[in-house]
Amino acid sequence: MDFKLTQEQQIFYDSIRKFALSELAEGAIARANAKEYPWDVARKFAGMGLLGIAFPEKDGGAGGSLVDSVLAIRAVAEVCPKSGDVIQAGNFGPIRTFVEYATAEQKARFLPDILAGKALISLGMSEPEAGSAVTELMTSLTPDGDGWRLNGTKIFGTNSVEAGVYLVYARFGPGTNGIGSVLVERGMEGFTIGKASDFMNGESWSTLFFDNVFIPKKNVLLGEGGFKKQISGFNVERLGNSARAVAVGRHAFNLAREHALVRKQFGRPLAEFQGLQWKFADMELKLSGAELLLMRAAVNAQDAPNGLPSAQDTALAKLACNEAGFFAANEAVQIMGGLGFSEESTAQYCLRRTRGWMIAGGSLEILRNRIAEGIFERRFDQRRRGDK
Ligand SMILES: Cc1cc2nc3c(=O)[nH]c(=O)nc-3n(C[C@H](O)[C@H](O)[C@H](O)COP(=O)(O)OP(=O)(O)OC[C@H]3O[C@@H](n4cnc5c(N)ncnc54)[C@H](O)[C@@H]3O)c2cc1C
Repeated sequence: MDFKLTQEQQIFYDSIRKFALSELAEGAIARANAKEYPWDVARKFAGMGLLGIAFPEKDGGAGGSLVDSVLAIRAVAEVCPKSGDVIQAGNFGPIRTFVEYATAEQKARFLPDILAGKALISLGMSEPEAGSAVTELMTSLTPDGDGWRLNGTKIFGTNSVEAGVYLVYARFGPGTNGIGSVLVERGMEGFTIGKASDFMNGESWSTLFFDNVFIPKKNVLLGEGGFKKQISGFNVERLGNSARAVAVGRHAFNLAREHALVRKQFGRPLAEFQGLQWKFADMELKLSGAELLLMRAAVNAQDAPNGLPSAQDTALAKLACNEAGFFAANEAVQIMGGLGFSEESTAQYCLRRTRGWMIAGGSLEILRNRIAEGIFERRFDQRRRGDK
């Protein structure tokens, strides 16, 4: 057992961190407070090969590993929290499921612009009546000639305002096995992107309405029976979410540490008050533990036949990272007082940002349910007995 990065991994992490410190640190506060997706950062990362790090070279990726992707997101988000979202969008989000299961033709159509930092793909999974109970989704596909007609509504999609293509979970037939996914392109007839609403993390998202949208065969990603595959791909998204949570928590921790060394009250630096020292000890304990669970999940994935992280490793990592990131950000705001609460600091952004990940893509409660299933080696159906 070895808890150190390899020499190449260390060099990779250090080089990205160096870039982040010289190019991204200065605008970090402005980026955090802005609503817009940082397209300029996306172009820069594309030029550095940081979009598609773990994708095969034949698909335009860098042929690296999931561990490399985790290192990249951490190196960036620890310095500029908002820019971590760009690494997520180009490596861990719906793009990862897309690369795993798309045909060569689909990849040729959509990947070049996404990997060039010029376009985004957004995930349409959640619905008004299907959040945690995602398999209850009602968005439906009915056969029509050489394709299908898509009807339904999707909510809460990250990058739903900016995306050019949407990976939409939809139902070809009844039950979990009836679920698959299709690619819906902006501008398709019957597809409406609703008015953007503002959310606590500073993002704006739109509701997506599908009114008899014709989906040609070439836009089907996974047909009937595809749900399990989608969720395996989604575990990578969850690790990206975990990596950002712990890195954003680390960013807040570092801010608070610097502040505690220079800010004096009662004639002494804050760092000399035991009441605050213990906060730092608890933050370090939670962040370090979460970082280890995250790396374990990413390293173990390398031995899996499909290269994807296991559900149990992922659930443990995400739960630990989400809680640690939020805990650290919350304590950082407290330690920094009024400054931490102000938009002059990224601490408040870290708090708002880490809060959302406790709900997104497997809430803390759903993750605990999943972990318990692993412990007892059986499934606990959340529905009441007798309910369909
Ligand atoms: C930051 C953020 C980003 C998101 N990005 C996307 C995206 O890109 N695409 C997308 O499709 N969706 C996205 N979502 C939506 C997200 O997936 C849902 O919010 C999530 O699945 C929870 O669903 P819900 O909001 O309907 O809450 P509900 O399912 O109504 O849950 C409400 C509360 O009840 C708890 N709960 C529900 N069932 C159980 C149970 N069986 N046991 C214990 N507790 C339970 C939940 O944990 C939660 O605390 C995002 C959400 C957030 C916050």
